[in-house]
Amino acid sequence: MKNVVLLGSTGSIGTSTVKVAGDLPDRIRLVGLAAGGNADLLLEQARRFEPDAISLTDPARAAELRDLLGTRVRVHSGAEGLLELATLPSADIVLIAIVGTAGLAPALAAIRAGKDIAVASKEILVMAGEIVMEEARRHGVRVLAVDSEHSAIFQCLEGRDPGTVRNLWLTASGGPFRQTPKEEFPRITVERALQHPSWVMGRKITIDSATLFNKGLEMIEARWLFDVGMDRVRVVVHPQSVIHSMVEFVDGSMLAQLSTPDMCLPIQYALTYPDRAPSARVQTSLAQIGNLTFEEPDGERFPAIELARRAGDIGGTLPAVFNAANEVAVEAFCAGRLDFPGITQSVQRAMDAHRVVAHPTLEQILAADAWARAAVGA
Ligand code: NDP
Repeated sequence: MKNVVLLGSTGSIGTSTVKVAGDLPDRIRLVGLAAGGNADLLLEQARRFEPDAISLTDPARAAELRDLLGTRVRVHSGAEGLLELATLPSADIVLIAIVGTAGLAPALAAIRAGKDIAVASKEILVMAGEIVMEEARRHGVRVLAVDSEHSAIFQCLEGRDPGTVRNLWLTASGGPFRQTPKEEFPRITVERALQHPSWVMGRKITIDSATLFNKGLEMIEARWLFDVGMDRVRVVVHPQSVIHSMVEFVDGSMLAQLSTPDMCLPIQYALTYPDRAPSARVQTSLAQIGNLTFEEPDGERFPAIELARRAGDIGGTLPAVFNAANEVAVEAFCAGRLDFPGITQSVQRAMDAHRVVAHPTLEQILAADAWARAAVGA
């Protein structure tokens, strides 16, 4: 039985995690649940799973939930509430699925409290991969991947020495504009960018999948999670999203992990690891899928891959700038203040203007994050 704290329980990853916990009541107990603003869904989840504690952003809404739930469940709020949950004494593992940078402090708090962490929020490793992995080593805790790509690599590697890896191959669906000519890019609307061909996800990550920034963020995450240089993190477009990623070993052998796309699978694997729990949820018929195809990513139309490679290679505070500039640019695109190519152009400008700090402290990382947000200022 694993006692799980789930940060971001009302989101796309969060609700899939709730499904997994519902499937495996003998293996997974949700002892803590945290949300942002969706108090109604959090209340429903708290009534169903009876966790030890919950948290949401607004203290006034927290007080309302306290009245409704009585003394059985402790109700916290704000950034402090996330830290309370991340360090909950009853927790074995903390799954972090909060969009944005708010997951970073709770991730470090959980590690320092001796908890394993399961990471969905990409910002954590992209911004502070060096610090997070070092702290995890020092405290002897695991950093498990929730993202389907990293879960696939983790499953293929099975603890093998990174020295045996020739390349990690992240697969990318290519997003909704895989075949769209570059001339059309300035006319791409938010509605079109939100139509992902293979996954149903939160808004920010869906736009990131359309620009391929999502793959860029994953490249930097992979570099830290699996301790390999950026030159060994490769990307191949695979529109069917059946192969979730691959490892190419030094002898030329490649291992891949396959299934129909369903986030419940990597979430379940992270929460039950090192066991494999039976579940009928994911069924894959290769005969029905028929073809698996692969393409080179087009760097002309999707410069995010090369920007990520540069950010990951140079390291220091540059990945934090890459991430924050993109976040602000995506918000500006969604609000109609920036066109689609403007997202990449804004990130490139911020990266060009940034003075990189090598081996930064957390404070320097957060300062670079704030600098990039102001620099884009869209
Ligand atoms: P969603 O937007 O669907 O959900 C975000 C969650 O975070 C919601 O529960 C939201 O609460 C909560 N939240 C936001 N801000 C705060 C805050 N300050 N304090 C507490 N909770 C907060 O995002 P996704 O689930 O799609 O993605 C979550 C993370 O996982 C992202 O970093 C994404 O990149 C990553 N990821 C997502 C995948 C997917 O398939 N969706 C795949 C791999 C990674 P509320 O709704 O109550 O406001």
